[in-house]
Amino acid sequence: MKKLLLSAACVALFSAASGATVHKESCDGEDTGYKTLNKACANNPSTVLVNCINICTHFDFRTAKCTDWTTKEIATAVCTSSGDKMLVRKCTDEQTEFAAQALETAREQAQTLSDALHAMDLSELEVETQRRFGYAKMIAKGALNWVNHDRQFLCKMEDDGMCKGNAAAAIPLTGGLVAIRLCAPFFNYSAKSAGSVIIHEATHSCCGTTDLEYYNSGDADQPLSTQHWPVIADTYTYWIMHGLCVPGETECSADAVAIPSAGAGAGAGGGGGGAW
Ligand SMILES: [Zn+2]
Repeated sequence: MKKLLLSAACVALFSAASGATVHKESCDGEDTGYKTLNKACANNPSTVLVNCINICTHFDFRTAKCTDWTTKEIATAVCTSSGDKMLVRKCTDEQTEFAAQALETAREQAQTLSDALHAMDLSELEVETQRRFGYAKMIAKGALNWVNHDRQFLCKMEDDGMCKGNAAAAIPLTGGLVAIRLCAPFFNYSAKSAGSVIIHEATHSCCGTTDLEYYNSGDADQPLSTQHWPVIADTYTYWIMHGLCVPGETECSADAVAIPSAGAGAGAGGGGGGAW
């Protein structure tokens, strides 16, 4: 008998919890009438939406009904101007807004980088360098896909260790997903730099790039042919910040090949993502 009651309770608890609803701004905000963020975002562009569930806090076993609930926010999404979404967790309103702008910039940067790599004339380069650029194109495309689809951002976590000295970090989630942990310095960056940080992390997330080298200690700190530059995340950051170049033995040269000028569209969002 006890077992039977428990299973009845489980069914009732589940049905209360499964009724996810999507609201504007907070769980107290206007109900969009949708149950999933994807659909709600498609119909509410340029809005912050939250996905909420009711969790039963008091269950009456005699009537097998839930008599009291609490509402819990399970995900926050920023619906972009084109009606798709980025997930943000544990971010303040300001952080959410900054991250949304940085993502818009990163989307333009990733598109520009991918286009520029594909437009390069590699025919005069050594075969090994051509092969490496083939790999870089693949990673740039993977990063482009990441910034346009699988985007999850975390602003706070219990363990802050991964933030030490970093603006951001890629962290694995369950189910093969990766979220980008945004750390305090990130929110003081220019739009261009913040976008390039997202691309750096996106190449970790999509394509397993490494941090064997960083190229952030001045102009002379560049991707070189003696390094495994195609699999180094900061190579892509460097290209975004300084322009496309071919890593040689002593410098990354923009003169080594015909490099197309960046024909990026007018910058929506951050206002700093332009020419590179
Ligand atoms: Zn990294």
